[in-house]
Amino acid sequence: MAIAATPRPSIRIPQTKLLIDGKWVDARSGKTFETRNPATEEIIAHVASADAEDTALAVKAARAALEHGPWGTMRAAERARIMNRFAELIRARQDDVVMLESLDGGKPISSVRRQDFPAMLDCIEYYAGWPDKITVYVVPVRPDALTYIARVPVGVVGAIVPWNFPLMNSMWKIAPALACGCTIVMKPATETPLTALLLGELALEAGVPPGVLNIVPGPGSTAGMSIVKNPDVDKISFTGSPAVGKLIMENAAPFVTRLTLELGGKSPNLIFEDADIDAAVKGSSAGIFFNSGQVCSAGSRILVQESVYDEFCERMVERSKGLKIGDPLDEKTYMGPVISKKQMNTIMDYIEAGKSEGATLKSGGDRVGTKGYFLEPTVFTDVDNSMKIAREEIFGPVAAVIRFKDEDDAVRIANDSDFSLAAGVWTKDVVRAHVMAQRLRAGTVWVNTYGQSDTRLPWGGLGGDSGMGRDLGETALDNYTDKKTIWISLRR
Ligand code: NAD
Repeated sequence: MAIAATPRPSIRIPQTKLLIDGKWVDARSGKTFETRNPATEEIIAHVASADAEDTALAVKAARAALEHGPWGTMRAAERARIMNRFAELIRARQDDVVMLESLDGGKPISSVRRQDFPAMLDCIEYYAGWPDKITVYVVPVRPDALTYIARVPVGVVGAIVPWNFPLMNSMWKIAPALACGCTIVMKPATETPLTALLLGELALEAGVPPGVLNIVPGPGSTAGMSIVKNPDVDKISFTGSPAVGKLIMENAAPFVTRLTLELGGKSPNLIFEDADIDAAVKGSSAGIFFNSGQVCSAGSRILVQESVYDEFCERMVERSKGLKIGDPLDEKTYMGPVISKKQMNTIMDYIEAGKSEGATLKSGGDRVGTKGYFLEPTVFTDVDNSMKIAREEIFGPVAAVIRFKDEDDAVRIANDSDFSLAAGVWTKDVVRAHVMAQRLRAGTVWVNTYGQSDTRLPWGGLGGDSGMGRDLGETALDNYTDKKTIWISLRR
C-alpha cells in the first residue's frame, strides 16, 4: 500500500538559528544539521548545530540573566504577566505551531491540534498562575526567633527533551522553570527542533528578558552532554531514554547537579474478565497505537485474563486493521510514520525478535509503502513476559498480549519489569480497581481509561528505568525551587 500525500502547504520555517542571550545566532563552528519530514523523508530545514562552545555561551547568558538581569529582581506578578503574554502569542500562532509540529515529527495534524497543542498551552497558562503564589512559610520554633522557610529559584536549568512530544515536553520544562524565576538552556532533539525554536521566538516577543530562555539544538552526545558537564548548571531536567538518563546521572555526579529524569516505560494494561470489553479494546488500541506507539507511557504489555483472552485478541486485531495510516497532514489520519529510518529499523528488529522467540504475530508486522517510515499496527499474542518484546521498550506500534489467571498473577506479571511509569486496569469491580491501583508499581494508574494526563497532575515513574522526579502539577515547582531556612533572632 502506498501512502497518498496531501498537497504540501507553503509554510514559513520560523527560526533555524540558536537562541542565545536573546539573539539568534549561528553555531560558532558554522555547522548545521538537517531536520526531515518523516512522512516524506524530505529535508524541511537546516538548523544551526550547537556544540560545547555554544552551550557554554548559553549557560553563561543564563547565569548572567539569573544574577544580574531583570528576571531576578522583577515582581512576581510581572513575571506572571509576561508568561500570560507568552501564552497569548502561542495561541495566536496556533496554525503555524500545529503545522510545524506535524511536519517535523510526522505527527497526525488532527491529534496535534486536539491534544498536543491544547495541552502545551494549558501548561503555560497553568504555570503563569504560579509566580505570585509560591509562598514563604513561617515555622514557629520559639518565641525569641522568627524562623521561616523561603523558596528560591534553583538557578540555571538545563532542559533536554526528546522528539516524541516536542511541544509538550519542552513546555513541561520551560513553564514551571519560568514560574519559579529560573533561567533555562533548552536542548531539543535533533529530529524535532523547530517548534522549540518557535516557542523561543514567541517568548522573546512576549518580553521574556534576554538570556532567560536559551535554545540550543544539537547532537545529544556533544550539545546535550556539554550542558550536563557544565558546572554552572544547577539543575538538569531530562526526558528521554533510560540509557541516556543513566549517562547523564553519571556525568552530573561530579558536580552533584540536581536531576529530574523522565525516562522510559513498558506499561502493563490489565483487562479483567468483568471489564467492558468494547471499551477495553478501544482504550488498549489507543494505548499502544496513538502516536505510532512512540509514547513513554504506551500500554505496550496488554495483560488479559484467560477467560476473555481469545475474544479480546480477535477484537484488538480487528480494530488495529481499521486504523487509518497515512499522511499526517490528512485530517483523517490516525497513525503517521515513526520518527526516522533508524527507529523504523529498530522496531522491525523487535518484530523479528518476537517471531523468533515464539510469539504469534496476529496482525501487522510490515512497513507500509516505500517512502516515509510508516509501519503497520502490530499485535503479538501468546507473549510470555520473559520475551524481549515484553521486557524492552520498543517505542513503536507493537502490542504484546499476555495471558493471566487471576489478580495475583496479573500483579506478578505487571510488576515484573524494569519500568514503573504507568499502568491501566479495566474492570467494573470498584474494589478490584482500587486494590489494583494500590498494588501496581506505576507512577500513574488509569482505571477504565488509558493515557490521560493533565497539567495539574504529577507525571513520572516510580524508579528504575522510568526515572525519578515529577513533571507537571504543583509538584514540579519543587524541581525548580530550593528551600532556604532563615532564622532571625528577636532577642535584644
Ligand atoms: P534519547 O534519550 O535518545 O534522547 C533524548 C534527548 O537526549 C535528545 O534531546 C537527545 O539529543 C539527548 N541526548 C542523547 N544523548 C545524550 C547524551 N549523551 N547527553 C545528553 N543528552 C543526550 O531519547 P529519544 O529517543 O529522543 O526519546 C525516546 C525516549 O524518551 C523513550 O525512552 C521514552 O520513553 C522517553 N520519554 C519519556 C517520557 C516521560 O515523561 N517519562 C516522555 C517522552 C519520552
